Amino acid sequence: MTEAFLQYVWQHQLITSPLRTTDGRSVKVLRVGDPNHDAGPDFFNSRLIIDDMEWAGNVELHLSSSDWYAHRHSSDPHYNNVILHVVYTHDRDITLANGVTPPTVELRHFMHEALVRNYDALNAPLPDDGIPCARRLGEVPPIVIKSFLDRMTVERIEAKSVVVRRLLDESHGNWEQTCYWLFAHYFGGTVNALPFELLAKATDQRLLARWKDQPQRLEAILYGQAGMLDSYFDDDYPRMLQADYEALRQGAALTPIDNTIWRYHCLRPSGFPTIRISQFATLVSRSSNLFATLLDITDAKALLALFACTASPYWDSHYRFDHTTELSTPKRIGRSLAVSLIINAWVPLLFVYGALHGQQQYKDQALSLLQQLPAEDNAVVREWVATGIIPENAAQSQALLHLKHTFCSSRRCLECRIGYNILKQSSSST
Ligand code: SF4
Repeated sequence: MTEAFLQYVWQHQLITSPLRTTDGRSVKVLRVGDPNHDAGPDFFNSRLIIDDMEWAGNVELHLSSSDWYAHRHSSDPHYNNVILHVVYTHDRDITLANGVTPPTVELRHFMHEALVRNYDALNAPLPDDGIPCARRLGEVPPIVIKSFLDRMTVERIEAKSVVVRRLLDESHGNWEQTCYWLFAHYFGGTVNALPFELLAKATDQRLLARWKDQPQRLEAILYGQAGMLDSYFDDDYPRMLQADYEALRQGAALTPIDNTIWRYHCLRPSGFPTIRISQFATLVSRSSNLFATLLDITDAKALLALFACTASPYWDSHYRFDHTTELSTPKRIGRSLAVSLIINAWVPLLFVYGALHGQQQYKDQALSLLQQLPAEDNAVVREWVATGIIPENAAQSQALLHLKHTFCSSRRCLECRIGYNILKQSSSST
Protein backbone atom coordinates (compact mmCIF):
# COMPACT_ATOMS: atom_id res chain seq x y z
CA MET A 1 0.00 0.00 0.00
CA THR A 2 1.21 3.46 -0.87
CA GLU A 3 -0.21 6.87 -0.19
CA ALA A 4 -0.36 7.51 -3.96
CA PHE A 5 -2.59 4.46 -4.36
CA LEU A 6 -4.78 5.49 -1.43
CA GLN A 7 -5.26 8.89 -3.09
CA TYR A 8 -6.10 7.12 -6.35
CA VAL A 9 -8.73 4.97 -4.63
CA TRP A 10 -10.25 8.08 -3.06
CA GLN A 11 -10.11 10.10 -6.26
CA HIS A 12 -11.81 7.40 -8.33
CA GLN A 13 -13.97 6.18 -5.44
CA LEU A 14 -12.92 2.56 -6.02
CA ILE A 15 -14.90 1.41 -3.00
CA THR A 16 -17.09 -1.61 -2.36
CA SER A 17 -19.83 -0.17 -0.13
CA PRO A 18 -21.07 3.16 1.26
CA LEU A 19 -18.45 4.82 3.44
CA ARG A 20 -18.74 5.09 7.20
CA THR A 21 -16.53 6.93 9.65
CA THR A 22 -14.72 5.09 12.42
CA ASP A 23 -17.46 6.24 14.82
CA GLY A 24 -20.22 4.87 12.56
CA ARG A 25 -21.48 7.97 10.74
CA SER A 26 -22.48 7.61 7.07
CA VAL A 27 -20.41 9.48 4.46
CA LYS A 28 -21.76 10.38 1.04
CA VAL A 29 -19.27 11.91 -1.38
CA LEU A 30 -20.80 14.67 -3.48
CA ARG A 31 -17.43 15.82 -4.77
CA VAL A 32 -14.08 14.10 -4.11
CA GLY A 33 -12.24 17.41 -4.50
CA ASP A 34 -9.36 18.69 -6.60
CA PRO A 35 -6.09 16.78 -6.14
CA ASN A 36 -3.40 19.02 -4.70
CA HIS A 37 0.17 18.23 -5.71
CA ASP A 38 1.72 21.02 -3.63
CA ALA A 39 1.99 21.56 0.11
CA GLY A 40 -1.27 21.40 2.06
CA PRO A 41 -4.19 18.97 2.17
CA ASP A 42 -4.42 16.28 -0.54
CA PHE A 43 -7.84 17.32 -1.93
CA PHE A 44 -9.30 20.81 -1.97
CA ASN A 45 -12.94 21.78 -2.35
CA SER A 46 -14.46 18.45 -1.43
CA ARG A 47 -18.16 18.23 -0.63
CA LEU A 48 -19.50 15.53 1.64
CA ILE A 49 -22.67 14.65 3.48
CA ILE A 50 -21.75 13.20 6.88
CA ASP A 51 -24.89 11.78 8.44
CA ASP A 52 -27.38 14.44 7.36
CA MET A 53 -25.10 17.45 7.32
CA GLU A 54 -23.39 18.78 4.20
CA TRP A 55 -19.73 19.80 4.54
CA ALA A 56 -17.41 21.67 2.20
CA GLY A 57 -13.66 21.71 2.74
CA ASN A 58 -10.49 19.67 2.33
CA VAL A 59 -9.69 15.98 2.65
CA GLU A 60 -6.35 14.68 3.90
CA LEU A 61 -5.13 11.11 3.36
CA HIS A 62 -2.53 9.04 5.18
CA LEU A 63 -1.54 5.40 5.38
CA SER A 64 -1.98 5.56 9.19
CA SER A 65 -3.82 8.14 11.25
CA SER A 66 -0.68 8.69 13.30
CA ASP A 67 1.06 10.05 10.18
CA TRP A 68 -0.95 13.18 10.91
CA TYR A 69 1.40 13.78 13.83
CA ALA A 70 4.49 12.47 12.06
CA HIS A 71 3.86 15.06 9.33
CA ARG A 72 3.28 17.78 11.96
CA HIS A 73 -0.19 18.73 10.71
CA SER A 74 -1.58 19.01 14.26
CA SER A 75 -0.05 22.46 14.70
CA ASP A 76 -0.40 23.63 11.09
CA PRO A 77 -3.39 25.99 10.58
CA HIS A 78 -3.35 25.22 6.80
CA TYR A 79 -5.09 21.97 7.76
CA ASN A 80 -7.84 23.60 9.84
CA ASN A 81 -10.30 23.22 6.98
CA VAL A 82 -9.91 19.41 6.81
CA ILE A 83 -13.43 17.94 6.96
CA LEU A 84 -12.40 14.28 6.64
CA HIS A 85 -9.28 12.28 7.41
CA VAL A 86 -9.06 9.25 5.10
CA VAL A 87 -6.59 6.58 6.20
CA TYR A 88 -5.75 3.02 5.33
CA THR A 89 -5.28 2.07 9.00
CA HIS A 90 -6.74 3.98 11.91
CA ASP A 91 -4.34 3.81 14.87
CA ARG A 92 -5.19 7.01 16.77
CA ASP A 93 -7.60 9.95 16.82
CA ILE A 94 -6.29 13.28 15.62
CA THR A 95 -6.95 16.96 16.25
CA LEU A 96 -6.56 19.99 14.01
CA ALA A 97 -4.55 23.04 15.11
CA ASN A 98 -7.84 24.66 16.19
CA GLY A 99 -8.58 21.74 18.51
CA VAL A 100 -11.34 20.16 16.38
CA THR A 101 -11.29 16.37 15.79
CA PRO A 102 -12.34 15.67 12.19
CA PRO A 103 -14.11 12.39 11.35
CA THR A 104 -11.97 9.55 10.00
CA VAL A 105 -12.72 6.94 7.34
CA GLU A 106 -10.62 3.77 7.46
CA LEU A 107 -10.56 3.04 3.75
CA ARG A 108 -9.25 -0.53 3.90
CA HIS A 109 -12.70 -1.71 5.01
CA PHE A 110 -14.17 -0.37 1.79
CA MET A 111 -11.55 -1.63 -0.66
CA HIS A 112 -11.93 -4.93 -2.42
CA GLU A 113 -9.15 -7.44 -1.76
CA ALA A 114 -8.78 -7.97 -5.50
CA LEU A 115 -8.12 -4.27 -5.95
CA VAL A 116 -5.16 -4.36 -3.57
CA ARG A 117 -3.95 -7.65 -5.06
CA ASN A 118 -4.04 -6.25 -8.58
CA TYR A 119 -2.29 -3.07 -7.53
CA ASP A 120 0.44 -5.18 -5.90
CA ALA A 121 0.69 -7.29 -9.05
CA LEU A 122 1.20 -4.17 -11.19
CA ASN A 123 4.05 -3.14 -8.91
CA ALA A 124 5.64 -6.53 -8.40
CA PRO A 125 9.23 -6.83 -9.63
CA LEU A 126 9.53 -8.64 -12.96
CA PRO A 127 12.52 -10.79 -13.91
CA ASP A 128 12.85 -8.89 -17.20
CA ASP A 129 11.62 -5.43 -18.10
CA GLY A 130 8.28 -6.89 -19.17
CA ILE A 131 4.73 -5.48 -19.25
CA PRO A 132 3.38 -5.68 -15.69
CA CYS A 133 -0.28 -5.92 -16.72
CA ALA A 134 0.33 -8.42 -19.56
CA ARG A 135 -1.93 -11.12 -18.09
CA ARG A 136 -4.82 -8.72 -17.47
CA LEU A 137 -4.90 -7.01 -20.85
CA GLY A 138 -7.43 -9.47 -22.29
CA GLU A 139 -10.01 -8.13 -19.80
CA VAL A 140 -9.67 -4.53 -20.96
CA PRO A 141 -12.20 -3.48 -23.63
CA PRO A 142 -10.43 -2.90 -26.99
CA ILE A 143 -11.97 0.56 -27.26
CA VAL A 144 -10.22 1.58 -24.02
CA ILE A 145 -6.88 0.34 -25.33
CA LYS A 146 -7.37 1.98 -28.71
CA SER A 147 -8.28 5.38 -27.32
CA PHE A 148 -5.33 5.31 -24.92
CA LEU A 149 -3.02 4.34 -27.77
CA ASP A 150 -4.32 7.33 -29.75
CA ARG A 151 -3.17 9.54 -26.87
CA MET A 152 0.19 7.74 -26.75
CA THR A 153 0.73 8.35 -30.49
CA VAL A 154 0.34 12.09 -30.00
CA GLU A 155 2.62 12.04 -26.94
CA ARG A 156 5.20 10.12 -28.93
CA ILE A 157 5.16 12.71 -31.73
CA GLU A 158 5.40 15.52 -29.19
CA ALA A 159 8.38 13.81 -27.55
CA LYS A 160 10.07 13.59 -30.93
CA SER A 161 9.31 17.26 -31.58
CA VAL A 162 12.07 18.35 -29.20
CA VAL A 163 14.69 18.17 -31.99
CA VAL A 164 12.36 20.05 -34.35
CA ARG A 165 11.78 22.84 -31.85
CA ARG A 166 15.48 23.15 -31.10
CA LEU A 167 16.37 23.47 -34.79
CA LEU A 168 13.45 25.82 -35.43
CA ASP A 169 14.77 28.05 -32.65
CA GLU A 170 18.28 27.99 -34.07
CA SER A 171 17.01 28.84 -37.55
CA HIS A 172 14.89 31.72 -36.13
CA GLY A 173 11.68 30.13 -37.37
CA ASN A 174 12.91 29.30 -40.88
CA TRP A 175 10.95 26.16 -41.82
CA GLU A 176 12.97 25.32 -44.94
CA GLN A 177 16.23 25.52 -43.06
CA THR A 178 14.84 23.54 -40.14
CA CYS A 179 13.66 20.87 -42.56
CA TYR A 180 17.06 20.68 -44.26
CA TRP A 181 18.94 20.43 -40.94
CA LEU A 182 16.45 17.94 -39.53
CA PHE A 183 16.71 15.56 -42.48
CA ALA A 184 20.48 15.81 -42.36
CA HIS A 185 20.32 14.90 -38.65
CA TYR A 186 18.27 11.77 -39.35
CA PHE A 187 20.32 10.79 -42.39
CA GLY A 188 23.14 10.38 -39.88
CA GLY A 189 21.17 7.77 -37.93
CA THR A 190 22.00 7.40 -34.26
CA VAL A 191 25.76 7.23 -34.83
CA ASN A 192 26.35 10.19 -37.17
CA ALA A 193 23.37 12.44 -36.36
CA LEU A 194 25.54 15.20 -34.93
CA PRO A 195 28.20 15.20 -37.69
CA PHE A 196 25.43 15.28 -40.31
CA GLU A 197 23.70 18.15 -38.54
CA LEU A 198 27.01 20.06 -38.33
CA LEU A 199 27.62 19.39 -42.02
CA ALA A 200 24.19 20.83 -42.91
CA LYS A 201 24.72 23.85 -40.69
CA ALA A 202 28.15 24.49 -42.26
CA THR A 203 26.71 24.27 -45.77
CA ASP A 204 24.30 26.96 -46.88
CA GLN A 205 21.20 25.44 -48.34
CA ARG A 206 21.06 28.18 -50.99
CA LEU A 207 24.49 27.14 -52.29
CA LEU A 208 23.24 23.57 -52.71
CA ALA A 209 20.07 24.85 -54.39
CA ARG A 210 22.21 26.71 -56.95
CA TRP A 211 23.92 23.46 -58.01
CA LYS A 212 21.00 21.12 -57.57
CA ASP A 213 21.02 20.09 -61.25
CA GLN A 214 24.71 19.18 -61.14
CA PRO A 215 25.03 16.09 -58.91
CA GLN A 216 28.83 16.05 -59.01
CA ARG A 217 29.02 19.66 -57.80
CA LEU A 218 26.55 18.90 -55.04
CA GLU A 219 28.65 16.00 -53.86
CA ALA A 220 31.83 18.06 -54.13
CA ILE A 221 30.34 20.67 -51.80
CA LEU A 222 29.01 18.13 -49.29
CA TYR A 223 32.10 15.88 -49.19
CA GLY A 224 34.34 18.92 -49.11
CA GLN A 225 32.39 20.48 -46.26
CA ALA A 226 32.37 17.13 -44.47
CA GLY A 227 36.18 17.36 -44.46
CA MET A 228 36.42 14.16 -46.48
CA LEU A 229 38.32 15.57 -49.48
CA ASP A 230 41.36 16.69 -47.56
CA SER A 231 43.59 13.72 -48.60
CA TYR A 232 45.51 12.31 -51.52
CA PHE A 233 43.30 10.05 -53.72
CA ASP A 234 44.10 7.47 -56.40
CA ASP A 235 40.61 7.30 -57.87
CA ASP A 236 39.53 9.81 -60.48
CA TYR A 237 36.15 10.48 -58.92
CA PRO A 238 37.34 11.89 -55.58
CA ARG A 239 40.03 13.84 -57.44
CA MET A 240 37.34 15.46 -59.57
CA LEU A 241 35.32 16.25 -56.46
CA GLN A 242 38.44 17.73 -54.90
CA ALA A 243 39.02 19.98 -57.90
CA ASP A 244 35.37 21.08 -57.97
CA TYR A 245 35.38 21.81 -54.26
CA GLU A 246 38.58 23.83 -54.42
CA ALA A 247 37.14 25.90 -57.27
CA LEU A 248 33.90 26.54 -55.36
CA ARG A 249 35.62 27.09 -52.06
CA GLN A 250 37.33 30.27 -53.26
CA GLY A 251 34.12 32.08 -54.20
CA ALA A 252 31.79 30.75 -51.50
CA ALA A 253 34.09 31.08 -48.45
CA LEU A 254 33.51 27.46 -47.45
CA THR A 255 34.95 26.05 -44.23
CA PRO A 256 34.89 22.28 -43.79
CA ILE A 257 33.98 20.60 -40.50
CA ASP A 258 36.45 18.39 -38.66
CA ASN A 259 36.48 15.06 -40.53
CA THR A 260 37.50 13.08 -37.43
CA ILE A 261 33.98 13.31 -36.01
CA TRP A 262 32.58 10.87 -38.59
CA ARG A 263 31.97 7.37 -37.21
CA TYR A 264 32.26 4.13 -39.19
CA HIS A 265 32.63 1.75 -36.27
CA CYS A 266 29.65 -0.56 -35.62
CA LEU A 267 27.99 0.51 -38.88
CA ARG A 268 27.15 -1.73 -41.79
CA PRO A 269 29.05 -0.47 -44.86
CA SER A 270 25.76 0.55 -46.50
CA GLY A 271 25.28 2.98 -43.58
CA PHE A 272 28.75 4.55 -43.82
CA PRO A 273 28.59 8.35 -43.86
CA THR A 274 30.30 8.35 -47.29
CA ILE A 275 27.28 6.53 -48.73
CA ARG A 276 24.71 8.54 -46.78
CA ILE A 277 26.19 11.86 -47.93
CA SER A 278 25.80 10.87 -51.57
CA GLN A 279 22.19 9.76 -50.90
CA PHE A 280 21.56 13.04 -49.09
CA ALA A 281 22.91 14.91 -52.13
CA THR A 282 20.36 13.04 -54.24
CA LEU A 283 17.53 14.13 -51.92
CA VAL A 284 18.74 17.74 -52.07
CA SER A 285 18.82 17.54 -55.88
CA ARG A 286 15.18 16.44 -55.91
CA SER A 287 13.92 19.66 -54.40
CA SER A 288 15.46 22.96 -53.42
CA ASN A 289 12.37 23.68 -51.29
CA LEU A 290 12.06 20.37 -49.54
CA PHE A 291 9.71 21.62 -46.83
CA ALA A 292 7.25 23.17 -49.29
CA THR A 293 7.42 20.05 -51.46
CA LEU A 294 6.73 17.70 -48.56
CA LEU A 295 3.81 19.79 -47.25
CA ASP A 296 1.83 18.92 -50.37
CA ILE A 297 2.39 15.17 -50.10
CA THR A 298 -0.36 13.39 -48.21
CA ASP A 299 0.41 9.88 -49.42
CA ALA A 300 3.00 7.87 -47.46
CA LYS A 301 3.92 5.84 -50.57
CA ALA A 302 4.82 9.03 -52.43
CA LEU A 303 7.03 10.08 -49.51
CA LEU A 304 8.75 6.70 -49.43
CA ALA A 305 9.44 7.02 -53.17
CA LEU A 306 10.88 10.52 -52.67
CA PHE A 307 13.18 9.33 -49.88
CA ALA A 308 14.37 6.24 -51.75
CA CYS A 309 17.51 8.03 -52.96
CA THR A 310 20.38 6.25 -54.65
CA ALA A 311 24.04 7.20 -54.19
CA SER A 312 25.99 8.26 -57.27
CA PRO A 313 27.40 5.44 -59.51
CA TYR A 314 30.94 5.65 -58.02
CA TRP A 315 29.48 4.18 -54.82
CA ASP A 316 28.13 1.10 -56.65
CA SER A 317 31.58 -0.39 -56.16
CA HIS A 318 32.86 1.59 -53.15
CA TYR A 319 31.98 2.17 -49.51
CA ARG A 320 34.90 4.54 -48.97
CA PHE A 321 37.02 6.58 -51.36
CA ASP A 322 39.73 4.54 -53.11
CA HIS A 323 38.49 1.17 -51.74
CA THR A 324 36.93 -0.87 -54.54
CA THR A 325 34.53 -3.67 -53.61
CA GLU A 326 34.20 -6.95 -55.47
CA LEU A 327 30.47 -6.67 -55.79
CA SER A 328 28.92 -3.73 -57.59
CA THR A 329 25.41 -2.73 -56.50
CA PRO A 330 23.56 0.56 -56.49
CA LYS A 331 23.38 1.97 -52.94
CA ARG A 332 19.76 2.90 -52.52
CA ILE A 333 18.18 4.00 -49.27
CA GLY A 334 16.43 0.99 -47.78
CA ARG A 335 12.82 1.01 -46.76
CA SER A 336 13.62 1.09 -43.03
CA LEU A 337 15.60 4.34 -43.31
CA ALA A 338 12.91 5.88 -45.54
CA VAL A 339 10.25 4.91 -42.98
CA SER A 340 12.43 6.24 -40.17
CA LEU A 341 12.77 9.59 -42.02
CA ILE A 342 8.97 9.85 -42.14
CA ILE A 343 8.45 8.79 -38.52
CA ASN A 344 11.33 10.68 -36.90
CA ALA A 345 11.78 13.73 -39.09
CA TRP A 346 8.81 14.57 -41.25
CA VAL A 347 5.86 13.63 -39.01
CA PRO A 348 7.12 15.62 -35.98
CA LEU A 349 8.02 18.60 -38.20
CA LEU A 350 4.58 18.60 -39.82
CA PHE A 351 2.92 18.21 -36.43
CA VAL A 352 4.82 21.17 -34.94
CA TYR A 353 4.03 23.25 -38.03
CA GLY A 354 0.31 22.53 -37.60
CA ALA A 355 0.48 23.25 -33.85
CA LEU A 356 2.36 26.55 -34.18
CA HIS A 357 0.11 27.77 -36.99
CA GLY A 358 -3.09 26.54 -35.35
CA GLN A 359 -3.80 24.44 -38.44
CA GLN A 360 -5.25 21.12 -37.38
CA GLN A 361 -5.15 19.74 -40.94
CA TYR A 362 -1.35 19.41 -40.77
CA LYS A 363 -1.51 17.62 -37.44
CA ASP A 364 -4.12 15.28 -38.95
CA GLN A 365 -1.91 14.80 -42.02
CA ALA A 366 0.99 13.80 -39.74
CA LEU A 367 -1.19 11.24 -37.95
CA SER A 368 -2.58 9.97 -41.25
CA LEU A 369 0.95 9.34 -42.58
CA LEU A 370 1.70 7.17 -39.56
CA GLN A 371 -1.58 5.33 -40.05
CA GLN A 372 -0.67 4.59 -43.67
CA LEU A 373 2.62 2.94 -42.71
CA PRO A 374 2.65 -0.68 -41.56
CA ALA A 375 3.35 -1.38 -37.89
CA GLU A 376 7.03 -1.65 -37.02
CA ASP A 377 8.51 -4.96 -36.01
CA ASN A 378 10.91 -4.78 -33.08
CA ALA A 379 11.42 -6.42 -29.68
CA VAL A 380 9.02 -4.09 -27.83
CA VAL A 381 6.27 -4.47 -30.42
CA ARG A 382 6.68 -8.26 -30.36
CA GLU A 383 6.27 -8.15 -26.60
CA TRP A 384 2.91 -6.40 -27.00
CA VAL A 385 1.87 -8.80 -29.74
CA ALA A 386 2.51 -11.69 -27.31
CA THR A 387 -0.06 -10.12 -24.94
CA GLY A 388 -2.65 -10.02 -27.73
CA ILE A 389 -2.30 -6.34 -28.64
CA ILE A 390 -1.51 -6.32 -32.33
CA PRO A 391 -0.75 -2.89 -33.79
CA GLU A 392 -2.48 -2.20 -37.09
CA ASN A 393 -0.11 0.51 -38.30
CA ALA A 394 2.93 2.61 -37.38
CA ALA A 395 0.77 5.05 -35.39
CA GLN A 396 -0.10 2.20 -33.04
CA SER A 397 3.37 0.64 -32.96
CA GLN A 398 4.80 4.06 -32.09
CA ALA A 399 2.13 4.36 -29.38
CA LEU A 400 3.09 0.97 -27.94
CA LEU A 401 6.77 1.94 -27.85
CA HIS A 402 5.88 5.13 -26.01
CA LEU A 403 3.57 3.34 -23.59
CA LYS A 404 6.20 0.76 -22.75
CA HIS A 405 9.09 3.20 -22.37
CA THR A 406 7.37 6.05 -20.56
CA PHE A 407 4.58 4.33 -18.61
CA CYS A 408 5.07 0.58 -18.08
CA SER A 409 8.82 0.67 -17.42
CA SER A 410 8.36 3.41 -14.79
CA ARG A 411 5.21 1.74 -13.38
CA ARG A 412 2.97 4.71 -14.09
CA CYS A 413 -0.05 2.40 -13.98
CA LEU A 414 -2.03 4.86 -11.86
CA GLU A 415 -1.80 7.42 -14.68
CA CYS A 416 -2.74 4.94 -17.39
CA ARG A 417 -6.30 4.39 -18.68
CA ILE A 418 -5.57 0.69 -19.12
CA GLY A 419 -4.40 0.48 -15.51
CA TYR A 420 -7.49 2.38 -14.38
CA ASN A 421 -9.70 -0.08 -16.22
CA ILE A 422 -7.98 -3.07 -14.64
CA LEU A 423 -8.18 -1.61 -11.14
CA LYS A 424 -11.76 -0.41 -11.57
CA GLN A 425 -12.87 -3.87 -12.64
CA SER A 426 -11.19 -5.47 -9.64
CA SER A 427 -12.79 -2.95 -7.28
CA SER A 428 -16.22 -4.21 -8.32
CA SER A 429 -15.39 -7.93 -8.75
CA THR A 430 -17.11 -10.39 -6.46
S1 SF4 B 1 1.33 1.46 -17.47
FE1 SF4 B 1 -0.68 0.74 -18.22
S2 SF4 B 1 -0.21 -0.64 -19.90
FE2 SF4 B 1 1.67 -0.36 -18.74
S3 SF4 B 1 1.74 -2.02 -17.27
FE3 SF4 B 1 0.75 -0.31 -16.24
S4 SF4 B 1 -1.41 -0.63 -16.61
FE4 SF4 B 1 -0.33 -1.90 -18.07
